[in-house]
Amino acid sequence: MTDLIAPGATLENVASGAVWAEGPVWLPARRAVRFSDIPNNRILEYSEDSGELAVYRDDAEFTNGRTLDLDGSVIQCSHGRRAVERDRDGVIEVLVDSWAGKRLNSPNDVVVKSDGTIWFTDPSYGIKKPGEGHPGELEYGDHYVFRLDPRDGSLTPVVIDVETPNGLAFSPDESLLYVADSAISPPDGRRDPARPGGHSIHCYDVFDGRLCKNGREFAEVGPGLPDGFRVDEAGRIWTSSLDAVQVFAPTGELVERIPVPEKIANVCFGGDDGRTLYITATSSLYRIRTTVRDAVAART
Ligand code: MG
Repeated sequence: MTDLIAPGATLENVASGAVWAEGPVWLPARRAVRFSDIPNNRILEYSEDSGELAVYRDDAEFTNGRTLDLDGSVIQCSHGRRAVERDRDGVIEVLVDSWAGKRLNSPNDVVVKSDGTIWFTDPSYGIKKPGEGHPGELEYGDHYVFRLDPRDGSLTPVVIDVETPNGLAFSPDESLLYVADSAISPPDGRRDPARPGGHSIHCYDVFDGRLCKNGREFAEVGPGLPDGFRVDEAGRIWTSSLDAVQVFAPTGELVERIPVPEKIANVCFGGDDGRTLYITATSSLYRIRTTVRDAVAART
């Protein structure tokens, strides 16, 4: 292992009992990791203080990815409401659920930029995959990445050329936007010439803080696919794959691999010093101590 992993640190399974654990976020005020158990339609919380896993909410309308807003409230994606919503102390406020008069598909993952705009991906798992939401149709006929500006309520597609956009995150200076494509999942990790980039993380230059240009493939992820990921303070990408968390340098070079015994959905940094990597992987929440922090935590 590289010096990205704390000396002597090993992977620890801290909680089990989910069917498909996704969408983790660290809540500093609660010293807890909140995450979705999508097929069970509930939200779980693991407390570092008690070491216990608790149900935060049942009948959660199939939430998926989440992040913290600038004010510390939770912004989360809802497959069931086909919306991006805010959870402030348990009170849900829908922020957006349609574009150009059409319903969104099923928002999957979300980030908040330092200017307060909310960027999210909109694949269709929540309306097409049994048990992950309510069956429905693609109303605008595609899968986009959107930017919501809460200052004027405008919703704008920013990325339209990723087949199935899933995880997303900015580089530390927000000059780059990374978007994972989870269109295909080759178990052998091989490239499909017919769908190049279908299990890659893609990269865009962000102009004027709001326009995504010059899309290109950043890194192919395999075996499996990249679902959720986070960017650390040095611009490295910590991404899910089938069997390991993979860490890519900003150059696209694979620099670390943390094997995990279950299929991985997503990761987040947490703990009091922000250097614990929490991993949602199928039935369980895992963690490992690292030497780095999330780019967003380092910003504040
Ligand atoms: Mg996802």
